[in-house]
Amino acid sequence: MGIAGNLEIRSVRKHYTVDGNRLQILSGVTFDVGPGHFLSIVGPSGCGKSTLLRLIVGLDNDYEGDILLNGERIEGPSRARGIVFQDHRLLPWLTLEQNIGLSLENTGWNAQAKKEAVRGQTELVGLSGFENAYPHQLSGGMAQRAAIARALVCKPDILLLDEPLGALDAITRIRLQEELLRIWRVEETTMILVTHDVDEAIFLSNEIVVMSSHPGRISKRFIVDLSSPRDRAGNEFIELKRLILAELHLYRQKTQSETENWMNMASLI
Ligand code: ADP
Repeated sequence: MGIAGNLEIRSVRKHYTVDGNRLQILSGVTFDVGPGHFLSIVGPSGCGKSTLLRLIVGLDNDYEGDILLNGERIEGPSRARGIVFQDHRLLPWLTLEQNIGLSLENTGWNAQAKKEAVRGQTELVGLSGFENAYPHQLSGGMAQRAAIARALVCKPDILLLDEPLGALDAITRIRLQEELLRIWRVEETTMILVTHDVDEAIFLSNEIVVMSSHPGRISKRFIVDLSSPRDRAGNEFIELKRLILAELHLYRQKTQSETENWMNMASLI
């Protein structure tokens, strides 16, 4: 058996045709994600991040190039690839336990194995005691935890996270980043996170790829070898953030004369 969760993306190109016009969305996208790694993708809106995740999850097979999971070309959706979206997509008429258990339908697992898996996953995401709650009774953060549990309960080789914390308030978001890190360490699942939040990417990942647009492509890859726990206010963290923001054209180092002008103005005040 191969090592689980090894993803290879080779020269992927993707276009859509809109009103007879060919729109190149992705071009020459190549990168690997090793088993058990946590890779984040950051890039401007519309650069093709979600499109790439759809290809990896197998929701769209109309592309050029190769996407291989454990050496095999991805041809369609499979339990080996879980996905979590920004909205939790829990079914409102089912309890939390039933929502999580839905992923195990048609697996051939017996009732006892399903029950234990759901219980274990509920506990792992910190929702024990809420098994019988309905989605409307959960906070936004709890609903996202449930969505993560639903995606992980069938033990996928890879978990794709499409801005899963994007709709949460800043404090809940930071708490859930810590939770996600803990869950990843326990599960050892390969994770790919799409996020607009550079801090979030640095806090969570081993590697970060920055994408640019028109067409979407990888502009730079960063290895994050900061020690744990990561200090969001630490010098190394901030230095890496500067490099990534610069790659996104969101940060420019002040020139010497700009710094001197600023200091002159400050001394006049
Ligand atoms: P991102 O996730 O980086 O914001 P997307 O992958 O959602 O970007 O979209 C990339 C580009 O592809 C956008 O310009 C978007 O309008 C376009 N696009 C996405 N889906 C379709 C579709 N089904 N048909 C045509 N164009 C699409």
